[in-house]
Amino acid sequence: MNVSVIGAGPIGCIAAYNLSRHNDVSLFQEPIDRKVRCAGLISKSGTGRLGLRLRKSIIKNKVRGAILISPYNERVEIDGREIKAYVIDRNEFDEFLLERAIDNGVELVERRISKNDIKNLNSDRIIIATGTNYNLQKKLGINSPREFLVGAQYVMKVDCDDDFVELHFNVPGFFSWIIPTDDYARVGLCSKRNPTPYLEKFVRELKRNGRIKSDRIIDRNFGIIPIYNPKIRTDYGKILLVGDSAGHVKASTGGGIITGGIAANFVGDIEYEYKWRKEIGRELFLHLLIHRFLSRLSAKNISRLLTLLGEYKHILEKNGDMDIASRNMTALFKNPKFMVKFILNLPFYALDLL
Ligand SMILES: Cc1cc2nc3c(=O)[nH]c(=O)nc-3n(C[C@H](O)[C@H](O)[C@H](O)COP(=O)(O)OP(=O)(O)OC[C@H]3O[C@@H](n4cnc5c(N)ncnc54)[C@H](O)[C@@H]3O)c2cc1C
Repeated sequence: MNVSVIGAGPIGCIAAYNLSRHNDVSLFQEPIDRKVRCAGLISKSGTGRLGLRLRKSIIKNKVRGAILISPYNERVEIDGREIKAYVIDRNEFDEFLLERAIDNGVELVERRISKNDIKNLNSDRIIIATGTNYNLQKKLGINSPREFLVGAQYVMKVDCDDDFVELHFNVPGFFSWIIPTDDYARVGLCSKRNPTPYLEKFVRELKRNGRIKSDRIIDRNFGIIPIYNPKIRTDYGKILLVGDSAGHVKASTGGGIITGGIAANFVGDIEYEYKWRKEIGRELFLHLLIHRFLSRLSAKNISRLLTLLGEYKHILEKNGDMDIASRNMTALFKNPKFMVKFILNLPFYALDLL
């Protein structure tokens, strides 16, 4: 088969690489000076699921856990006691995936694809992996995600523990992160509205606490993150959607590399939609429910929930996985004491949810 993949982001490259085993594949990338917008945190287990052997220079740091910080500064440290996630250089990661695809016979074409080009492409299958640029989808009259978060991130020198990422629950509907890299930290957050004022406020707070070593901001990036919609149709016969184009993103964390990559493993399959849903549909839906639940909780209830998680953190430390929400939830709710305490808290949560 002749297959065209539109968009050479990580998901387009993974799709093209997989397809090139049995097909002639052209990978179209618009000629732009690409600036990657990403915190670059991916699970170690996820890279394993994608069969990626990352070269050393891509991995800027390895972390073994997360410190959750409530709106009242209570801290819960979840220590996985082994490497759980990689902090990657996204530019190098994307280049690595592109080279891998080209080495496997994929033809890279530097061209922006328009609606008319789609009609003229001599392809049996067209994979749309154009990320959060939804123009092409809209022009073709096929659906695209409707709900978004906006992310903002500064790269700065921050005093932090190299082994842990920090998640501060100090933004409405999401959290702020501090991700340690080799020399710097990525300080960012997502929000439904303009994230910059929240980020500025967070940075000022870190400064007040003496954690910012230098005022210099090495890099700034901003980008949108689609919120997963379980109803989205991704298979239009000849045309398939994958990655951010399809909203294959974990709503509770904003991570889309591993989930999009897993979906990209199925683009060669005749039952694409069925296959990706079977593999990650339930997880994406659970992440969506967690996002919806957390984004409605008041500061008091976030604090209440983190205190409870703190009591049972050994469960997350043993079973935790950044991508597989069901594993974390099942492990927690299998513990009768946790379950009872969670149920006793429900009336408090309900006040926020109603
Ligand atoms: C602030 C921020 C932080 C994030 N942090 C993380 C994180 O820590 N971990 C994680 O897993 N995910 C993270 N994400 C999400 C992650 O960046 C995306 O899920 C991922 O980039 C999706 O890859 P993609 O290939 O689908 O899209 P993209 O990476 O956007 O690639 C799409 C490509 O298509 C090209 N293109 C678009 N239109 C056309 C066209 N018409 N013709 C030709 N080419 C076209 C674009 O130029 C681009 O190169 C973050 C996102 C943001 C905004």
